Amino acid sequence: KDEHAFLLSCIRDIPDYPKKGIIFKDITPLLQNPEALKITTEALTRPYRGKEIDLVVGLESRGFLFGPSVAQNLGAGFIPVRKPNKLPFHKIAASYELEYGADTVEMHSDAVKKGQRVLIHDDLIATGGTAAAATELVQKLGGEIVGYSFLINLSFLNGKDKLDKNGLFEAVITL
Ligand code: 5GP
Repeated sequence: KDEHAFLLSCIRDIPDYPKKGIIFKDITPLLQNPEALKITTEALTRPYRGKEIDLVVGLESRGFLFGPSVAQNLGAGFIPVRKPNKLPFHKIAASYELEYGADTVEMHSDAVKKGQRVLIHDDLIATGGTAAAATELVQKLGGEIVGYSFLINLSFLNGKDKLDKNGLFEAVITL
């Protein structure tokens, strides 16, 4: 509907960034627009109201932009999942495959308590590798994945298939 078209108009395509052949979805125009910022925060929150979310886990780095606002809306806490060697305390790690090589994400080992209800958030899901690795981290600590909340889903890459099927999957914009 109108909201969707408006938000889509606030996302800028950057050809050949960060590498040749990649069209990068730049969300900075959406962040810059007060109306778009408000609508997006609400759209990311709405599906999870009343779902008793304890924690929103945000993925570095653009998952840190909306994650804390969504957490605040839901009365939840916010947990950062970061790239290697960024977190200062005791950590757990999970690795995932890339086209060439592998990548690792980390979370503090006291970030999630057994049985806590967790929402995973990022700005964009592509192959789903990052969100799947974050799922592994949460589950390692005994957390329950209640849902996934993305601003953009590049659905043709089928990232959703890598995620916990019990989690409610929501994307504000599906491409
Ligand atoms: P995945 O692990 O699903 O393949 O990649 C998702 C991660 O890559 C997310 O953390 C996301 O921020 C980043 N990412 C990949 N492509 C884009 C893009 O075109 N735009 C933005 N904003 N982020 C991207």
